[in-house]
Amino acid sequence: MTKTETQSADELISYMSNPTEEDKALVRKAFDFAKEAHRDHKRMSGEPYFNHLYATAKALAEIDMGARTISAGLLHDSIEDVGVTPEQIRDEFGPEVLFLVEGVTKLGELKYRGAGRHIESLRRLFVATSQDIRVLLIKLMDRRHNMHTLDHVRPEKRLRIATETLSIYAPIADRLGMGRLKSELEDLAFKYVYPKEYKRIEEIMSESKLANEPKLEKVRNNLKRALAEHGVKNFRTESRVKGLYSLYRKLERKGGDLDKIYDLQAIRVILGNVEDCYRALGVAHTLWHPLPGKIKDYIAFEKPNGYRSIHSTVMTPDAGPVELQFRTEEMHREAQFGIASHLGYKEQEGPTLDRGQQKREQLWYRHLIPSLFNTQVQNRTEQKKTPKWISELADAHLAETLTERDTFMQEIQDDFFSHRIFVFTPKGDVIDLPIDSTPIDFAYAVHSEIGDRTARAIVNGKIAPLNAQLKNGDIVQIETSKNAHPNKKWCEYVRTTMARKHIHQALLRQQKDGKH
Ligand code: MN
Repeated sequence: MTKTETQSADELISYMSNPTEEDKALVRKAFDFAKEAHRDHKRMSGEPYFNHLYATAKALAEIDMGARTISAGLLHDSIEDVGVTPEQIRDEFGPEVLFLVEGVTKLGELKYRGAGRHIESLRRLFVATSQDIRVLLIKLMDRRHNMHTLDHVRPEKRLRIATETLSIYAPIADRLGMGRLKSELEDLAFKYVYPKEYKRIEEIMSESKLANEPKLEKVRNNLKRALAEHGVKNFRTESRVKGLYSLYRKLERKGGDLDKIYDLQAIRVILGNVEDCYRALGVAHTLWHPLPGKIKDYIAFEKPNGYRSIHSTVMTPDAGPVELQFRTEEMHREAQFGIASHLGYKEQEGPTLDRGQQKREQLWYRHLIPSLFNTQVQNRTEQKKTPKWISELADAHLAETLTERDTFMQEIQDDFFSHRIFVFTPKGDVIDLPIDSTPIDFAYAVHSEIGDRTARAIVNGKIAPLNAQLKNGDIVQIETSKNAHPNKKWCEYVRTTMARKHIHQALLRQQKDGKH
């Protein structure tokens, strides 16, 4: 991401694990194509636009994504920004790369405009719109680079993007189990969304005796020595400091008292197998006293996002409370890259997964893409576009056991998607409505004034009847006229109480006006 770095297709390829000749050729071609297509295209900062594409693709290579995803990373802005046609991408790179690029373009149209009460649905919509987890990963890496270069964007837009990052993208990264990306996005956005608080937390961190590197090093060395003495072999350690935003949130919860925060500094021990994790925990507890209630076994009881590790906070004479985390290499990889750590092989045919891995993956999908499993809501075309491997995972899961299936079906029934749809204003604002809503509902949801003056509806660029049933993802435009009035028929058209109420009021007003 620095300006001095060399940008070459070979460098990108060097981050890939075991690329075939075909993979390499695809990435090289996408590299050249993107460079040429964006030749005269500059970013706000004045730097070549290609830097952004390269950074996005590199981030995808670093989390082990395949050649098609990396190529899509290079091409993700080419349709939108420099007028490359979908046909060109299909002809040059095949339908799958086109599918990914179009998915990212479509996601780019979803914008957060402060609809606070429906953030959770917006997150879900985001995930559902992406259709393929790879689209989501490209979008996340795209956003990551945009956050790193946000200083060049005008303040108003900057705040919107940062707020969106904090409320949509970071939680999605978290749910994908991508811990490192989540805290990176949070800390980048924090500065812009809460500038005063950010400064305060930064000061607290630099003044704090707790985040004292040499002392933490001493603790780390003591632990390493003790583990070796107790015959624990093949381990490595690293220390991590809590993210600024995550510290801010925790301080808020703890009434601003830094002394109540015990995971400000942590030491990670990465071991060869699960047994060694428990042994290492035992060794650490003989060395230091653990704080009661702070031992968390996320190996036996993994977090909903798939996170696994054992945590324990111990009181050390040298550095005060320190959180210790014990995990295997596999768990470590998953904790950093989350779902991406399982996807590398996905672009090749016929891989086999161990059962535990398979189950964890299904958990993620279940959590993230409930609508994909919901055949009642899903329309046919969507189903067609759902990549085979996702639907297969879903089927495998549904077939697993009956009890699990029942709870799962229950979850689906409770799901927001089964009774709400999301439609867009031409500007990309999201309006959520009950299922079967019509353009009239939409008009009143935007503004009662617009509802009362609705003359004509344009849905996805075509004139539509006012009682048309809107579908997920429709772009709706309302044309108003001074002479337009609600009429009795409208009452039959609407699903929302708000629209019905406004129509009744307008009809009453018209009646009165008629009498006088
Ligand atoms: Mn982009």
